[in-house]
Amino acid sequence: MFNVQDIRKDFPILSRKVNGKPLVYFDNAATSQTPKQVIDAIADYYSNYNANIHRGVHTLSQEATDLYEQSRETIRAHFNAKFTHEIIFTSGTTHGINLVANGFSSLLKQGDEIIVSALEHHSNIVPWQMLCERTGPVLKVIPMNEEGELLMDEFDNLLSKNTKLVFVNHISNALGTINPIEHIIEKAHAVGAAVLIDGAQSCPHIKPDVQKLDVDFYVASAHKMCGPTGVGILYGKEEWLKKLPPYQGGGEMIAEVTFEKTTYADLPHKFEAGTPNICGGIVFGTAIDYMNQIGFDAIANYENELLHYATEKLLEIEGLKIYGTSPQKTSVISFNLEGIHPYDVGTILDKMGIAVRTGHHCAQPIMDFYKIPGTVRASFAFYNTKEEIDALVEGVKKAKMMLS
Ligand code: PMP
Repeated sequence: MFNVQDIRKDFPILSRKVNGKPLVYFDNAATSQTPKQVIDAIADYYSNYNANIHRGVHTLSQEATDLYEQSRETIRAHFNAKFTHEIIFTSGTTHGINLVANGFSSLLKQGDEIIVSALEHHSNIVPWQMLCERTGPVLKVIPMNEEGELLMDEFDNLLSKNTKLVFVNHISNALGTINPIEHIIEKAHAVGAAVLIDGAQSCPHIKPDVQKLDVDFYVASAHKMCGPTGVGILYGKEEWLKKLPPYQGGGEMIAEVTFEKTTYADLPHKFEAGTPNICGGIVFGTAIDYMNQIGFDAIANYENELLHYATEKLLEIEGLKIYGTSPQKTSVISFNLEGIHPYDVGTILDKMGIAVRTGHHCAQPIMDFYKIPGTVRASFAFYNTKEEIDALVEGVKKAKMMLS
């Protein structure tokens, strides 16, 4: 049974004060908070298992290796990948995208086309631009409408036999829009293109089934899902991961090295050069177990309630405009007060202990579309409450009064 007050007890940080006021943490789309189950697992790792993995014959190294590989299996089961070796540990979503973009450098040629969406985070734009500069394919963009939705008819028109790759986020971090990725994957596959889905914002709210989606690549970060920073995963279909060349060279990723020729290790190690974030990898599994114990259906239902409550209350404030009004959205509200800079609103809210994000949210093309410098973004998680939303609404009213 979902009980937010019980859940809040798992998060020590939620009982601290900021600027003398109880912390109201509404910057979950940037980084989620960490439950004590994950904090304890970090302490347990460093207290009992800290050792390098995959190379030691000693007990500690073997125990750390077992925990790391068990976590990979937990993650596989969560995403419903077919094989455990299709889960590559990365330092986060950005790393996963760069790994794939770098690999495609050697598979694409002049005249090929790759498609991105107007709703992307910079980390799902810049690596592909770098790829185009290196290799010569053309980058095309699926446009968006005022509501912050992708125009699927335009997408259909962009697709051709030259399309080799499509990459879209599952959920927009700046607006919260849930993109129709099932449709995108189906249409892209129909012309023979591969699809990468940026799941950084979806994984905290939705449990993706990569086999059902039939997606080629799916990337995520642990720190958006109650886990630590500096670790994430790339899921790739086995056939694609076999085709892509390694991203980085070094220890762990080789089968044999001589000065004449090096052969590479099998999956997943081919893409995991060097000592990884071992503790992070292990406790990513703990974080996923924690979220599954609460249940993704319960999380989505509750967050939806918060979204609707907050939307209604905020819209009562005259001069407040919400960007991203698709009915298909998660618990992110991007807004501005007429004539007031978002940074000023964020600064006043902080004085009241309320943490929101202000700025372009690493999605400048979206801000350009709306012709604004940025927004105030409040993003809710399953441990937030309606009382906290009331505090936000009061804070925004106060900010408006002070800044008008
Ligand atoms: N894509 C999206 C949609 C995101 O929201 C983020 C994080 N804000 C990223 C990619 C990048 O994630 P990370 O910084 O963990 O690599």
